[in-house]
Amino acid sequence: MFTTYSIAVLSGDGIGPEVMAVAKELTQVAAERAGRRMQYQDLPAGAQHYLDSGESLPETTLQACRDADAILFGAMGLPHVRGQDGTEIIPQLDIRFALDLYAGVRPVRTWPGLPIPLADPRAQHIDLVLVRENTEGLFWARGRGTVDADGASDTMRITRKGTTRIVDFALQLAAQRKEQGRPGHVTNVDKANVFRSMAYWRDIFTERASHWPQLQTSHAYVDAMALNLVLKPWQYDVLVTENMFGDILSDLIAALVGGMGMAPSGDIGDQHGLFQPAHGTAPDIAGQGIANPTAMILSAAMMLQWLAHRNQDLALTDAANALERAVRQVFESGKVRPREFGGNSGTRDIAQAILEQL
Ligand code: ATP
Repeated sequence: MFTTYSIAVLSGDGIGPEVMAVAKELTQVAAERAGRRMQYQDLPAGAQHYLDSGESLPETTLQACRDADAILFGAMGLPHVRGQDGTEIIPQLDIRFALDLYAGVRPVRTWPGLPIPLADPRAQHIDLVLVRENTEGLFWARGRGTVDADGASDTMRITRKGTTRIVDFALQLAAQRKEQGRPGHVTNVDKANVFRSMAYWRDIFTERASHWPQLQTSHAYVDAMALNLVLKPWQYDVLVTENMFGDILSDLIAALVGGMGMAPSGDIGDQHGLFQPAHGTAPDIAGQGIANPTAMILSAAMMLQWLAHRNQDLALTDAANALERAVRQVFESGKVRPREFGGNSGTRDIAQAILEQL
């Protein structure tokens, strides 16, 4: 008798459904090899659903997400579909706020066998995680900004509670990574030299870090961090930052390892976990079967790791490790090469190679 986990599946728009289909299949295979089963529930949401029904994230979908053990999310939004205020339909933001998914976890590492943009050989050793605050910061202004005759303003909101919990999350993550042999170093990224809100953030970071003497900690201004992430990204382990800075740096670090198709992410709260690729709906390549599904597959592996930890279920750790190992071996062997890397492997080719490796 398999232990079953219920997974809410929001495939979304563009390439979302294409990468989700193969990620579901591979996750199921990895889980069943470890004696576990995923029970998927496909749920409507997204820009196309908004066009069809007037709702981008129905309450029934949200409730099913609350009830599930974990959430798998493809990508949502289409450039031509806009709400009444002119902004894009982005339920991925709504769901973060609704389920209080405060920690945006974005790991990147180089994959042997795949080319990377940086020429320095040390770039082969990039292995870092960006922890992005997901529920306040400058994104707090979404839907609250004001416009008057003289101009417009959006407010950055930094609270004690919000900052404490994200900083604690990053410190704890670094401690876990240290146990696995990584440096155990957290870099706080802010703009404390200019903004009161960021000086407040920095003070909280400093106080929380003082409880973790086994970790190294340091501070960096976000502009200097943009520079250093290109000059010497191999020196970083865990980074923690405000919502908007994290949004921007997430794309930068994805580029370091070859592109959006390789960058997974998790949006994690105390009650719920949602896992999605860092990329968007890529309308320019949707429907052609050429999207790289790796970021989605690695996001599903992160989900398995999170479920394993949450449920003290070591079999799921094995399943996650097997899936990640299969991805690594497939690229290392050169059997497939995604189009972003100059190859001609489509979504199915990559999934099939990983399946065979599994
Ligand atoms: P968003 O604002 O939702 O992040 P975006 O339009 O800024 O979306 P993406 O949808 O991620 O960004 O697309 C950026 C570029 O990366 C596009 O050229 C797209 O084709 C490419 N891209 C994104 N994801 C993949 C993928 N999985 N495989 C191949 N190419 C991808």
